[in-house]
Amino acid sequence: MTAPAPVILAAEEVSKSFGSLKAVDRASMEVHRGEVFGLAGPNGAGKSTLFNLLTGIPIRPDSGTVRFGGEEIQHRSPRWIAKAGLKRTFQTEAVFESLSVRENVRVGSAYGSPGRPARWNATACRTALDAVELGGDLDRPAAGLSLIDRKRLMIACALVSEPTVLLLDEPAAGLDPGDQEALIRLLSRIRGAGVTMVIIEHVLSVLEALADRMAVLDSGQVIVTGEPAEVLNDPRVVEAYLGPGAAR
Ligand code: ADP
Ligand code: MG
Repeated sequence: MTAPAPVILAAEEVSKSFGSLKAVDRASMEVHRGEVFGLAGPNGAGKSTLFNLLTGIPIRPDSGTVRFGGEEIQHRSPRWIAKAGLKRTFQTEAVFESLSVRENVRVGSAYGSPGRPARWNATACRTALDAVELGGDLDRPAAGLSLIDRKRLMIACALVSEPTVLLLDEPAAGLDPGDQEALIRLLSRIRGAGVTMVIIEHVLSVLEALADRMAVLDSGQVIVTGEPAEVLNDPRVVEAYLGPGAAR
């Protein structure tokens, strides 16, 4: 039997409240190097907030520990965390509309390239755009891109600094089934290149296709962790999504 890959990213009893609302409530998870880890749960469960707490963008935990490569990072600055190789995307396709495709990736590369000089790296830009299969004229404005191409660009902006771990917040949102398939192929290629990923996703077929393991959050708490097939059939998960009694 081969030993499991080491834990690269871990949340230990991480909590965050907004006033009286416990948005994330003693959540723990461990992500192993090289795996795709899924995060699911109903709207408002605390998934995006957990990403915020892992990356320090824009908030930190009230309590609990975040470890990246074994080191505690919950007190580190967002910039330090990005430079250390933990990068994220946001739930909205945050691209700079008036900038070109190339310029967007250039902005991405300015934010956290470990061990690299700050100067522009055209090769890294090309590699990142190739990885997401965003071809065509790199000088066209991002404003004209289709939804799937915006997502490709957003992922390229994160990949350009060669992260060790990439956190993706609902990458499949709004895509039709054909584009969802294209996204799954794209993300499996990125995994094949050795990037560890944590994927928040409402489109559960994406997690079924990609995730090695996953967790479900409900009211800020991790209620189940395991392989997708077992997690998605767990009565607690069915109930969290569909309401009490649904699992019976
Ligand atoms: P999810 O991503 O699972 O849909 P979120 O993490 O966005 O959920 O939100 C979890 C809960 O925390 C929600 O009730 C949301 O309204 C609340 N929340 C998130 N961010 C803030 C904030 N900055 N201020 C106040 N409440 C927030
Ligand atoms: Mg969210």
